[in-house]
Amino acid sequence: MTWTGGCLCGGVRYEVEADPMWISHCYCSICRKQTGALVGTYVGFPAGSVRWAAAEPARYRSSKEVERSFCSKCGGTIGFHRVHETSLTAGSFDDPGGLMFEGEDNDHVWCQERVSWFHVSDDWPRHDRFPPGRNEELEDLSGNPIRG
Ligand SMILES: [Zn+2]
Ligand SMILES: [Zn+2]
Repeated sequence: MTWTGGCLCGGVRYEVEADPMWISHCYCSICRKQTGALVGTYVGFPAGSVRWAAAEPARYRSSKEVERSFCSKCGGTIGFHRVHETSLTAGSFDDPGGLMFEGEDNDHVWCQERVSWFHVSDDWPRHDRFPPGRNEELEDLSGNPIRG
């Protein structure tokens, strides 16, 4: 399966050959500020699986281990880049409806920062911060160059 997507103006385009590892709704204040929305929805892929078909997006380092990418022309939010993975904004896919399938590890994260009047009704797991084991995983990878 090849997934495709890009920004609003089409200046940034990508292709991904891998299947998504997870889809995650993040309510943290940083996702909120960067996307302008009350939740940032990201689709996770292993580092190296995203191919930029046109211009690469601009990047902003939002915290020690994370860069966020966007189109410098239209402002479309594209990705969330870590040492070991590239997460793409669900809304930047050409067909986000096709992303849902068995075997993904989908959840809601950083619920402790959710805006109180914003509700999503589904049965995906909800975590105050990250799911169990995720903090340890990120700590182990800390300090390595961002490859995602
Ligand atoms: Zn653009
Ligand atoms: Zn977030």
